[in-house]
Amino acid sequence: MVTEKVKESDVITSFYLKAADGAEIADFIPGQYVSLQFNIDGENYTHIRQYSLADAPGKDYYRISVKREDGNKAPDGIVSNYLHNQVEEGDTLQVSAPAGDFILHSDRLNPVVLISGGGFREDKIHFEFFGPMGSLAK
Ligand SMILES: Cc1cc2nc3c(=O)[nH]c(=O)nc-3n(C[C@H](O)[C@H](O)[C@H](O)COP(=O)(O)OP(=O)(O)OC[C@H]3O[C@@H](n4cnc5c(N)ncnc54)[C@H](O)[C@@H]3O)c2cc1C
Repeated sequence: MVTEKVKESDVITSFYLKAADGAEIADFIPGQYVSLQFNIDGENYTHIRQYSLADAPGKDYYRISVKREDGNKAPDGIVSNYLHNQVEEGDTLQVSAPAGDFILHSDRLNPVVLISGGGFREDKIHFEFFGPMGSLAK
């Protein structure tokens, strides 16, 4: 369930997600993502999109930050615009368990260089998680 919807900028909106039945959410490793499935009125097909988990683990919610894909001359992005324009606090979404192997290994001491493109949140999450653990050379 969407417990909070926060407009971060003109094109980025964050959604805070908790289990609709109040159950604990599955833990995750920084860098992982969830898949969201949508059956949108007027769309012929089910749409599934992935969104990175944009907060440190150990919270009682997932946060995703979604960039609205403006099509300009092409059609607008279906799911990102649906999330921005139609999904509100209190709505229930179909969300998978966390997945993905683009993760940092806390047991390895080799230096890591993080380069971010597109404004997504994985680099910040890795810093939030591993910075306090002293695993990252600054
Ligand atoms: C592992 C992973 C993690 C991700 N994490 C994030 C995240 O944290 N935040 C985030 O915002 N996104 C993330 N994404 C991307 C996200 O899954 C979606 O791909 C994104 O939101 C666009 O989906 P959409 O349905 O809005 O666009 P779609 O409808 O899939 O369209 C995609 C693009 O194609 C263009 N397009 C559509 N039709 C045409 C056409 N006929 N001709 C030319 N162009 C066209 C659209 O304008 C749009 O720019 C992630 C993807 C992956 C794989």
